[in-house]
Amino acid sequence: MIDANKIKEEVLSEIKNVTNAKILYDIRVKYLGKKGIISELLASLGKLSIEEKKLQGPIINTLKQEVTKLFDEKNKEIELNILNEKLKNEKIDISLPSTKIPLGSPNILEKLIEEVEELLMTLGYDVVDGPEIEEDKYNFEMLNIPKGHPARDAQDTFYIKDEEILLRSQTSPVQVRTMLENKGENPIRMICPGKTYRRDDDDATHSHQFMQIEGLLVDKDISLSDLKGTIDVIVKKLFGEDIITRFRPSYYQFTEPSVEVDISCFNCKGNGCHICKHTGWITVAGAGVVHPNVLRMGGYDPKIWSGFAFGFGAERLAMLKYGIDDLRVFYNTDLRELKTFDRKESD
Ligand SMILES: [Zn+2]
Repeated sequence: MIDANKIKEEVLSEIKNVTNAKILYDIRVKYLGKKGIISELLASLGKLSIEEKKLQGPIINTLKQEVTKLFDEKNKEIELNILNEKLKNEKIDISLPSTKIPLGSPNILEKLIEEVEELLMTLGYDVVDGPEIEEDKYNFEMLNIPKGHPARDAQDTFYIKDEEILLRSQTSPVQVRTMLENKGENPIRMICPGKTYRRDDDDATHSHQFMQIEGLLVDKDISLSDLKGTIDVIVKKLFGEDIITRFRPSYYQFTEPSVEVDISCFNCKGNGCHICKHTGWITVAGAGVVHPNVLRMGGYDPKIWSGFAFGFGAERLAMLKYGIDDLRVFYNTDLRELKTFDRKESD
């Protein structure tokens, strides 16, 4: 006959002073594990006669349940003790300084582009995106720059496949695509800020990759003065209300007439300083009235429609606005330098 009480007492005395969960677990295995004392007892039932089984079976099963309960209760007790101990010893000193978690902030170039976008959207412009891998016909031909034209030399282009697929050397192909989409029927007001690529050595003022902010307006009775008004609004927003704009004649294949846009130096107010190279003026954009050939190729009848286009170099604007003298800082990941942007902006 099995003495269930004796086994229970043995268990109780063994676990009585245990304070460690691992030790308790080991004792549990000794009794309830696969090869444990109680499991062996259950296994031995198989060898008994039916009468004996009927008698012993329930006793061992009850014993197993009771012992399991003992272990569970003891386990809870140990866990509770550990928790109480922790609560007693671990205190949070709320007077300690907190750990500094550095916060990210938008790149200053991105911010500048957003500022221009927001301004132009209030003037009814859409922000349009286009592919950076472009076809020659959109990047050049439909902008009045046929194959072999010397104007191509100025844009030292990365060709990807033959002479047909390239990394766009300007954002102007987005203008062509937008004109084609509108099928010569609707007026257009769009800007396409984006990356452009040219084969250039990287130095403080040149990069093989740079951002342009280009705009195009096509409507009826549009003239150079409309362009000047729009440019005025943009530069005043970026550099201050007292900025004066000046147009100088220039030459681009896709506009006629073409101009270069100067602004009065915001730093010296025109008296001459290192930023304006002592001229009092700073060149910020190229622009002009859309060439009739470009309108025609874009599906717009130049007898009915006219328009203007302008292009700013985003890095140049940001460098001027924030007094940065090396455009490479926009594209590196040095947090110390990126932090100085935040400072410059809050100046
Ligand atoms: Zn100046």
